[in-house]
Amino acid sequence: MRDINFLTETNAKPIWHPMAHPAEMRANPPKIIMKGEGVTVTDIDGRSVLDAVGGLWNVNLGYSCDPIKKAIADQLGALPYYSGFRGTSTGPSIELAYELSEWFEPEGMVRTFFTSGGSDSVETALRLARQYWKIRGQGDRTKFLALKKGYHGTHFGGASVNGNANFRRNYEPLLPGVFHIPAPWTFRNPFDETDPARLAKLCAKALEDEIAFQGGDTIAAFIMEPVLGAGGVIVPHESFMPLVRDICDRHEMLLIADEVVTGFGRSGAWSGSRLSGVKPDFMTIAKAITSGYFPLGATLIGGKVADVFEADKTSFGSIGHGYTYSGHPVGCAAGLAALAETKRLRLDENAAARGIELAVVLEGLKARHAIVGDVRYKGLMAAVELVSDRATKKPTDKKTMAVVSEAAYEAGVMLRVSGNNIILSPPLIISAADVAKIGEALDAGLSKV
Ligand code: PMP
Repeated sequence: MRDINFLTETNAKPIWHPMAHPAEMRANPPKIIMKGEGVTVTDIDGRSVLDAVGGLWNVNLGYSCDPIKKAIADQLGALPYYSGFRGTSTGPSIELAYELSEWFEPEGMVRTFFTSGGSDSVETALRLARQYWKIRGQGDRTKFLALKKGYHGTHFGGASVNGNANFRRNYEPLLPGVFHIPAPWTFRNPFDETDPARLAKLCAKALEDEIAFQGGDTIAAFIMEPVLGAGGVIVPHESFMPLVRDICDRHEMLLIADEVVTGFGRSGAWSGSRLSGVKPDFMTIAKAITSGYFPLGATLIGGKVADVFEADKTSFGSIGHGYTYSGHPVGCAAGLAALAETKRLRLDENAAARGIELAVVLEGLKARHAIVGDVRYKGLMAAVELVSDRATKKPTDKKTMAVVSEAAYEAGVMLRVSGNNIILSPPLIISAADVAKIGEALDAGLSKV
């Protein structure tokens, strides 16, 4: 391996980083992270900080989970790769699929289609949803409905259902037949409604209106995150997802729950769907399935969809879709270990308990700092939205966001900036003292501006 000077000097020059401008990265190179231990990461200059980003919403178990590391090493020794395409399978993939159907039994998930990550999982769900309708002889059902502000990864299908121009406009034209309705976001919505329950009803009505406009029998599925993550931690009222489920049922549309972030405890429950007792038709998962130690994702398939595919006698039932790394044995071995640890440590309960403490901290910051326009949270996913003027809700500029996050880093906590939001998604193993430290660093950051 080359020395540290090489890394510092070369840094962003040969890499195009996701979600960044190449020239900006060259001018302002990213921090190089060298080590992780517990909930702390250490950069190339030797500075250790509490990782309040949790990798990228995924390192739920922190950086020192030995059972996952051992499972990966053991599986690499036994069988580093074999394909899951028709004709072959591997032990860890069978075992993990079995475990996932037990884990997500309350959500009605009965089958697993493995992928390499969240974007793949979304793409798989969208494609299987269309295929479902072809099998059922309703090939006109091709459209998708989604929420504005939703994030569903960056493949063309996922980008098309995304509800944010940043991920869409440079890549248009996108998938035709995709339409968006307002998200139940109390801080900013077209109805100027601040009551969460009333807003949930208004957004559900907007969904009904769009279905009436499109023709219900042209729509394949509605996709939503139970708690919107990348869009700025928008937490719908608990009535919203049940309202959506009911609408989907009445119009026979499928419901895809994108649980890439909310799966495995982050929201304080094992899934976001479970928070409101909803059974979707598909669930997309990734990220924390291996706690980030290996790239892996899955699309989980509900009973109704599985029955249609498995009883199919048409020419439409064969799945012409899959990835070289679908069911990667090392990823699945990592997944099995991660899930066992996640369950053993009851990370859902810790996320809920620490989440309550974090909420108190964030509300305190909002009370103290005029620049904080809104704070939103559920379990251990949270956003602090900064505004230059509370009355007009004008978002703060990029420079201000950078000052806040750099000052927090100086105070010992890594934060993530997304637009005018500071996003918090720490490992789910954090302690009460860690929550307090995050609060202090945020306070230090906000005090700078
Ligand atoms: N769906 C959601 C809800 C996500 O948050 C993400 C990633 N942040 C994705 C899909 C895409 O996952 P990946 O980056 O692993 O492709």
